[in-house]
Amino acid sequence: MRSLVSQLKNIRFNNLACLLNGIGLVLVGAFIHACTSPMSETDSLQTENVVIIVIDGPRYSETWANIPGLIPNMSGKMKQDGVFLNHFYNDGYTYTSSGHAVITTGVNQPIDNYGDELPANPSIFQYWLKNTGKPTTAAWIISSKDKLHILANTSDPEWNGKFIPSIDCGIAGPGTGYRADSLTMLQAKQILTTHKPSLVLINFMEPDGFAHAGNWDYYLRGIGRSDRFVKELWGFLQGDSFYRNSTALIVTNDHGRHLNEINGGWVDHGDNCEGCEHISLLALGPDFKKGKEVEARYTLKDIAPTVARLLKFEIDSVVIVPRLDTIVVASQKEPVGLAVKTDSVQVAIVLDTTVLQGHPIRELFIDTKLNYVAK
Ligand SMILES: [Zn+2]
Ligand SMILES: [Zn+2]
Repeated sequence: MRSLVSQLKNIRFNNLACLLNGIGLVLVGAFIHACTSPMSETDSLQTENVVIIVIDGPRYSETWANIPGLIPNMSGKMKQDGVFLNHFYNDGYTYTSSGHAVITTGVNQPIDNYGDELPANPSIFQYWLKNTGKPTTAAWIISSKDKLHILANTSDPEWNGKFIPSIDCGIAGPGTGYRADSLTMLQAKQILTTHKPSLVLINFMEPDGFAHAGNWDYYLRGIGRSDRFVKELWGFLQGDSFYRNSTALIVTNDHGRHLNEINGGWVDHGDNCEGCEHISLLALGPDFKKGKEVEARYTLKDIAPTVARLLKFEIDSVVIVPRLDTIVVASQKEPVGLAVKTDSVQVAIVLDTTVLQGHPIRELFIDTKLNYVAK
């Protein structure tokens, strides 16, 4: 609601600014154009392709809190060439399926972490494929975790089964198990070479997978490998004439892990402790600043609107937000002789609608390119 009010305020302010400029007869035509069609300002953007890399489940204390440490590539040259968000969070549900679904839909929702439940809202892949009319091979989900095939589709009846991106998930697709990140990396390079997709999400799972197995050394090794893969992929994109100087890279996480003193610490995750919620975002691209560190707080739900702005499509402003409700219901009549009447608790999923909560991350953009973006 607060966001809707602030949007209304912005509209009023913009109208007033237009009116004043019009009265001043200063470049009247240009201002009317700017006020009536703000999306036209995205014309100056050079980004034509977006690659999102999700490093699954490293904790901030093992990554950006201690640099160069395990991430010398990201915290070194890549940070100098891009924008780093130090206060970036998963403020919703800190497990894999939800953490990825909010990246692709812009909406936090509780979602089954083990089954085939689809996100309630269409994804950036679907919006983009619909908007461009490109073939399904122009958008890809490439994932070490097989279960992330759910990101390709939605339960929204208007969008279900439509504008579905290509998937390359797990060992051999849904239900076949997790794949080593090195193999996911090989697949990613092959798919980028063969199909030249313009919207890609890549999931590297080893930090999360080895932490759940209680293997601290391999958990750390997974973080270090992810750092090398990110550098290698950025180098690959810059060395390819299709992607060079037209591709934005966004590197983030789906969630962190428990702080040491909480619920067994680093092995697991899933609550709202600082360790689970505090993640990071590093972004490089032709429309982004270089060597900039952003102090403002943003969350995973801001990535989808940012991608929409970069690739010049719009996300519906009204979204579905599934909410877990606890309902107390009276139990069936107890057998005669038992005087005690008990209540039972039922959990139900309620589908609410609300306005999209995320915003484009305006601090990423070079001022002259996108300085009008309202927060
Ligand atoms: Zn996990
Ligand atoms: Zn936690």
